[in-house]
Amino acid sequence: MDIAALRSDLDGLKIEDNAKIVQQKSRDFYWYSPVLKRQLDHVTADLIVSPKSEEEVIRVLAACHKHGVPVTPRGTGTGNYGQAMPLSGGVVLSLAEMNEVTSITAGRVVCGPGAIIADIDRATRAHSAQELRLHPSTYNTASVGGFIAGGSGGVGSINFGGLRDFGNVIRLRVVTMEAEPRVLELTGEDLHKVTHAYGTNGIITEVELPLTAAYDWVDVIVGFDKFAGAARYGNALARQDGLLTKLITPIAAPVPWLYFKRHQKFLKEEQSICVCMVAAHSLDAFLAFTRRAGGEVVYNAATAPDEDKKGLPPAYELAWNHTTLRALRVDPSITYLQSLYPFPNQLELVEKMDGMFPGEVFSHLEFVRFDGDVTCFGLNLVNFTTEERLDEIIRTFEANGCPIFNPHRYTLEEGGMKQTDEVQLAFKREADPQGLLNPGKMIAWEDPDYDYRSDKTFLFRGLEKVG
Ligand code: FAD
Repeated sequence: MDIAALRSDLDGLKIEDNAKIVQQKSRDFYWYSPVLKRQLDHVTADLIVSPKSEEEVIRVLAACHKHGVPVTPRGTGTGNYGQAMPLSGGVVLSLAEMNEVTSITAGRVVCGPGAIIADIDRATRAHSAQELRLHPSTYNTASVGGFIAGGSGGVGSINFGGLRDFGNVIRLRVVTMEAEPRVLELTGEDLHKVTHAYGTNGIITEVELPLTAAYDWVDVIVGFDKFAGAARYGNALARQDGLLTKLITPIAAPVPWLYFKRHQKFLKEEQSICVCMVAAHSLDAFLAFTRRAGGEVVYNAATAPDEDKKGLPPAYELAWNHTTLRALRVDPSITYLQSLYPFPNQLELVEKMDGMFPGEVFSHLEFVRFDGDVTCFGLNLVNFTTEERLDEIIRTFEANGCPIFNPHRYTLEEGGMKQTDEVQLAFKREADPQGLLNPGKMIAWEDPDYDYRSDKTFLFRGLEKVG
């Protein structure tokens, strides 16, 4: 890797080589996982390059291709699987400065990959009372390109499903990693080539997303004596077609009281809760439904006095991966697992798994609508003891019919469905024939004969050489 020669080819571009800053920008939220923390702590790039335009991206990719230097794209580094970490060193390509919102029309927004999601919503709300369909709980910090390449869904998935579902991305412009990089416009089926591919097969330089009507969302927390009650309520609420919600998040006691410090005054230690975002025009009906379902409204932002609301994080920052973040801030030994409770047995499975690891696994659900059916993901908190025990818990979930998307692995396949994605692999052969984009993250590329059924963790050989 001739970094000096590369530098001279990149003359005039914004480059950072201060070792401390380079290391900082080579990291994401990998430390969420005690396993990834151990494996990836030493990982660092050689340079951070921050292009300001697609032309500059093309220049960087052509130069890196010429010198055989790996390139790992980065939005704002909030991914928590080590997705944006440069396992083979080289260049971290920060897209943060390509953050312009270029066009807003009825039902569509076009922007640069580095645009922060909350900034996009601010622009579309001001322009024409529209907002994005989905956002991660890292709304205020994550880039839209990072969400599309690294995320899966989030707030709004209760209405629109996941990011890779048809219609949730309209169009992407993608630059390939070749001697003469090409610019491709992907739509329809072709979007699956690069969505949730961790930037392993192309750099997203422009994004077009669908918009929906923007509403005032009211944060409400509903309390229940038992977690099963909160889970049943969440499922029934999600099926109320006349009630517009954006977030339905049941969480088992004592997690809310222990870790939601700023909300603690509204909560009781033994109370499980369901955190909700409700459209203001649905609120009266929502409260009537909640009364009938036997839930106790412990916090309602529409009626809470201003002094009670001061300093409270928004409801979505109690949900999705933020639940774990809040727990980690209080107790660093906490980690989590992401599972699916498949439709139509989700409630049965939730209750079964909830009772299986008392004092060790604490249920946290996110209700979603997939292919028209309501079901839920688990982002369950785990009192971490050893990696062997964590693997045992994973095996128990899977043996009971709840697939685990393992957040303690840095590869696409192990963090996903544990199988080769032929579409993404074929596109990598075409768009990155030298394998220079985000190396080590796609097992199918690194080791085509890898056996996903072996209980082993994939170890990328290049990882030993960096840092
Ligand atoms: P980064 O972390 O910088 O990058 C993510 C991946 O995308 C990396 O593989 C990177 O190489 C690649 N990438 C970035 N930009 C580009 C580009 N322009 N072209 C090609 N590849 C690119 N995820 C969810 O899906 N839903 C949630 O609700 C959610 N909540 C979270 C809460 C917390 C507290 C944390 C720490 C994480 C959460 N995540 C969630 C994960 C993460 O925040 C999201 O995936 C987020 O959208 C990533 O955006 P980013 O800009 O930080 O991306």
